[in-house]
Amino acid sequence: MSFNQPITFERRHQEKKDPQKIPVRYLKGVGPKRAELLSRLGITTIEDLLLTLPKRYEDRSHLSPIRSLKVGEIQTTVGTVLKVGERKTRKGLSIVEAAFKDETGILRAVWFNQPYLKYLFSPGQKIILHGKVERFHSLQMNQPEHEGVEPGEENASSLHVGRIVPIYPLTAEISQRWLRSVVHEGILRYGRSLVDPLPEETHERYRLPSFQEAVCAVHFPKSMEEAEQARRKLVFNELFLFGLSIAYRRTKSRANPKQQVAQGDLYPVEAFERLFPFSLTSAQRRVMGEICRDMENRIPMNRLLQGDVGSGKTLVILYAMLLAIKNGFQAALMVPTEILAEQHASTFKEFLAPLDIRLASLTGGGRAIERRRILRQIERGQIDLVIGTHALVEEGVRFKQLGIVAIDEQHKFGVVQRALLRKKGENPDVLVMTATPIPRTLALTLYGDLDISVLDEMPPGRSTIQTRWMEEEKREEIYAFLRRELTAGRQGYVVYPLIEESERLDLLAATQMAETLQKVLPEFRVGLLHGRMKSDTKERLMREFRKGNLSLLVSTIVVEVGIDVPNATVMVIEHGERFGLSQLHQLRGRIARSRYPASCFVLSTPKTEEARKRLTIFSRYLDGFRIAEEDLLLRGPGDFFGKRQHGALELKIADLIRDVALLEETKREASHLLEEDPRLTHPSHAALRKKFIEKFRSKSELVVTG
Ligand code: ADP
Ligand code: MG
Repeated sequence: MSFNQPITFERRHQEKKDPQKIPVRYLKGVGPKRAELLSRLGITTIEDLLLTLPKRYEDRSHLSPIRSLKVGEIQTTVGTVLKVGERKTRKGLSIVEAAFKDETGILRAVWFNQPYLKYLFSPGQKIILHGKVERFHSLQMNQPEHEGVEPGEENASSLHVGRIVPIYPLTAEISQRWLRSVVHEGILRYGRSLVDPLPEETHERYRLPSFQEAVCAVHFPKSMEEAEQARRKLVFNELFLFGLSIAYRRTKSRANPKQQVAQGDLYPVEAFERLFPFSLTSAQRRVMGEICRDMENRIPMNRLLQGDVGSGKTLVILYAMLLAIKNGFQAALMVPTEILAEQHASTFKEFLAPLDIRLASLTGGGRAIERRRILRQIERGQIDLVIGTHALVEEGVRFKQLGIVAIDEQHKFGVVQRALLRKKGENPDVLVMTATPIPRTLALTLYGDLDISVLDEMPPGRSTIQTRWMEEEKREEIYAFLRRELTAGRQGYVVYPLIEESERLDLLAATQMAETLQKVLPEFRVGLLHGRMKSDTKERLMREFRKGNLSLLVSTIVVEVGIDVPNATVMVIEHGERFGLSQLHQLRGRIARSRYPASCFVLSTPKTEEARKRLTIFSRYLDGFRIAEEDLLLRGPGDFFGKRQHGALELKIADLIRDVALLEETKREASHLLEEDPRLTHPSHAALRKKFIEKFRSKSELVVTG
């Protein structure tokens, strides 16, 4: 028999049922207990099983003899167990050691803390070992992966030896060997029933193997090239469906035109620019132009504005809202915190003084009578511009003629809140902002139903920020630095993390720090700001700080988003390891808003490798896009986007970073297809239509922007 025999479908009668609907437990060898274990891996149906891809492959068609193992490399070999033993370290840790031999030599293997292994191996047994080869007294592998070989198996054609074998991502209770057999069984019985949703024509254009071939080859490839081709096909399928869902949402959101459009010449960008003592950056001007064109169009604007912290996004929002107002509409701006709402309201009032604009803010706080009065005015159209927190989406809030909805720091809101705000108008224009930018190609694809504008230029005259990561011993140096800056007339922030479990302790630490700093710097006023304060206290403090009456603000995370006090040039971040990268970057964005040089100190002694990496990246890069990219690599898409943020998290096969090129192609392909056949009614799209409906029926209603 030859090695790597192809797995064929012909060997047995194939079941003509939809593998997507058949539970795995219908397969031979899968009882209730193992079905339960599989379900923990997200595998409940035959289709799930067949689309669980190997994490890697092991080429067991050429196992190296022990003597020719290369030290320092990860290799696979097979040996017979000579002896097995366990010893304990002084701390009681178990070390299982085993010796293996073949005709050419002896290999030792060592496993830590897995005492059960001593029962698993018995002398005479053949075991495949995979791991890094080292040399101590003899050749050795530490913690190798291992798999037993049945007698005679090496010589026959088997699923497990003598071929390229799949290695799956597994939990300890399921063995590779067992899963491999079950997958094989699944392919034999149901492989033929897999229906490929991808249209034939797309297949040919991209030279993809058939779905059935791909499923077979991805588990039991004849060569690594074949495995790669097979994977590409499966990724393609998954991304294509994902692309289709985006394209579909886009068509849907464009299906309901606005009642009335804005006229750009009622408020040209030049007129807007006259409100400010500085000129707009060319990036701001360009983006305002893009927005103006959107607002003149009958199709509602659905635009994402990306720009690094401090790039001047607020003015862009303001322009869009004023354009709407000049055209007789109302505008609403939703922001994540009361402080930010207050800040926007006060800067807008200042800028808008020459204009006749009626502005109100609506947050959770405030007196009930006042609130009712504002609500009435909004409903009667006596207020043009409303700035608020999530209080804006409450039921009692009704607009007369809401033309534009803007959301600042949109990543702080859930999908539902965004959708609710939009529903306050009749197909209003929508503009969402984020300061957690993601790489443009990725953004274009992921947020495929949004158009994207990028502010890729900072206002002129900004100084740079020196970022220094320091350990506790240097605290005195930092105080000295603070004194110099404050004496020169600048202001600063000292920021504390605030996380649920230890909220009280953190608050205590922040409070004590405020007291300490007040003693260290008696000639300056130190204020304390935290999330638990009443909103009017917070507002008063922020006002004092903005006016310069407070020199130093000790604060919990509430200053993270949006706060804009240009005279503040120093920031000290305590417990830096407890912040995420984008939070750190947001925080640092509070300083360097003027021509004065700015300094950011991170005090931290990180305990984990990941925290160390975060801080290294943070100290090295200033560019938010770059930081986001590094963050994405560090954390992976799941954590990066957050649990509820994006449908892309449902991708099981594709890897957003590795497969980004394919992501773009499939998206393009999917939108073409939907343009030609918007309802997928063409006979050649029947399978696609069916799959699409099954997959997205429940979700597509909910997901609106981003
Ligand atoms: P972000 O993009 O982080 O929301 P902001 O909109 O808060 O940034 O802007 C940061 C600061 O830059 C503000 O003080 C704002 O007034 C100022 N600013 C915005 N645009 C310009 C410009 N074109 N020239 C000079 N300063 C600007
Ligand atoms: Mg902002």
